Amino acid sequence: MLFDSWGPMHTFEPLKRAQQSLKESETRLQAFFENSPNLVFLKDRQGRYLHVNKEFKRALRITEEQIKGKRDDEIFSLEQAASFHTNDRQVLDAGVPMEFEEVSFQEDGPHTSIVHKFPLLNAEGEIYAIGGIATDITERKRAEKELLALRDELAAELTAMTRLHEFSTHLLTIDELQSLVEEVLDAAIASQNADFGNIQLYNHEAQVLEIVAQRGFQQDFLEHFRCVSDNGTACGRAMKLRERVIVEDVETDSEFAPHRHIAESAGFRAVQSTPLLSRSCELLGMLSTHFRRPHRPSLRDLRFTDLYARHLEEVLERKQAQQVLQMTQVELARVSRLTTMGELAASIAHEVNQPLAAVTNNSSACLRLLASGNLKPEVLRRSLEEMVADGTRASAVIARIRAFIQKTPGERNLVDMNEIIQEVLGLTARELCENRVQIDRQLTEPIPRVSGDRVQLQQILLNLIMNSIEAMVAVTNRPRSLWVQSGVYESDNLLIAVRDSGTGIGSDADRVFTPFFTTKAHGMGMGLSISRSLIEAHGGRLWAEPNSPNGTVFYFMLPVGARTPS
Ligand code: ADP
Repeated sequence: MLFDSWGPMHTFEPLKRAQQSLKESETRLQAFFENSPNLVFLKDRQGRYLHVNKEFKRALRITEEQIKGKRDDEIFSLEQAASFHTNDRQVLDAGVPMEFEEVSFQEDGPHTSIVHKFPLLNAEGEIYAIGGIATDITERKRAEKELLALRDELAAELTAMTRLHEFSTHLLTIDELQSLVEEVLDAAIASQNADFGNIQLYNHEAQVLEIVAQRGFQQDFLEHFRCVSDNGTACGRAMKLRERVIVEDVETDSEFAPHRHIAESAGFRAVQSTPLLSRSCELLGMLSTHFRRPHRPSLRDLRFTDLYARHLEEVLERKQAQQVLQMTQVELARVSRLTTMGELAASIAHEVNQPLAAVTNNSSACLRLLASGNLKPEVLRRSLEEMVADGTRASAVIARIRAFIQKTPGERNLVDMNEIIQEVLGLTARELCENRVQIDRQLTEPIPRVSGDRVQLQQILLNLIMNSIEAMVAVTNRPRSLWVQSGVYESDNLLIAVRDSGTGIGSDADRVFTPFFTTKAHGMGMGLSISRSLIEAHGGRLWAEPNSPNGTVFYFMLPVGARTPS
């Protein structure tokens, strides 16, 4: 009884509990399977879908009915299906879990997933199905790709910066303006991927831009744009606006119309012009690049061009300042030369004028009396005596002035004549260069110092060198050469020679030292005379000799050390 009443109960309860627990575990598994954020699927050995979870159906926009019992080739493209199938096959063959990267096409495009596939075994240890869990890594992949692109971009930027740095350092080593201009042009063309280019410098006097370097243009273009000052061209406009001008297409740019034919024959459709400006915004030049196709260089493309332009601007500005300085120095030297002589000439003219006026008056009176037949011998003698006296007075004035110069003590310092020679050659460098005079320095180093007035000695040398240049202007059939030599003569004298290949002074070399002797239209004829007085005031000598085979040599000798003139 007890058995009867308890027996069935006894066997039913554990089964029920077991069923219940199985159900619970199935529900848990189902919930786990269903709520996984990954795509989960189960296929049989033939590749037919047994189960897919909610996320799988959502991501692939597919219903339970559409997928259950279907194979990949019935749902996906053949290509995709083939790749899924190949991977499934591998797992079935190997019988172990494996990992794959698979691409599936969803509504918003391709998605990449890491798919873990694993075999499911029955009690006999046979594979009866294949399970898979896919993790979508599309977003991670995109971020990775972006990161890689950024890394590449940074690496490219770094390379470009390094190249720029190297190039800038290289530019600093270029002294010669033309080479610098050429290098900058090449670099600008390369950095913008341009087809042609040119650099113009601004001619302040003519107020035009002139091409000094170009790449890829023919003669007709160079002729047409030899001097630019109008508004139509890109460089003309940039010149007026003092800012970059880009003409994206010369065919549609109305202002460019007058130059279209030349652009067509040169073969460019687009052009950009970047002005080169000084710090005070003065125009120094223009850097232009040209393109075969309509084009607008990006700011990024122009970045390096701007840096090169800044470098060129600085060099141009420095060169300009140097030129102005040199011109000022020469001008100063010229003015100081004229001032010294002008002052002397004025005082001479003033002093000499009086006796000269008296001589003239006396002679005119005699002439008048002679014409009227009233010139008595007595009057004539008196007049002649007065004239002789006035003449003597006039030459006494000159002698006095020369004596005055000789007595003028001036500054006396121990000076290095080689240094003075170099200074004066520096001052006359432009003059020498413009007149194509070759200069040959033959200086004895070291040279003993002499006691003298630095400025006066400079002026004497300046006068000799300027005279030499002027004497060579007419020479066209032989080189124009100037030799400046320094040496020691008989141990206690310095001998300086200024030798030229000019027209020469003829046989009477000494007459050039006569006051007022000049063969020049605007000459004063006082330079050599004063120079001789100044050298004598230093206890030295100045003389001239014909040079062989042509030209003249001026020598001056100065006592070494602090010796005073006797
Ligand atoms: P200026 O230069 O004003 O004529 P200078 O006294 O300096 O005055 O020179 C006088 C003249 O001497 C010159 O006009 C020129 O005829 C002559 N002379 C001077 N230096 C040379 C030279 N190197 N070669 C030829 N002639 C010279």
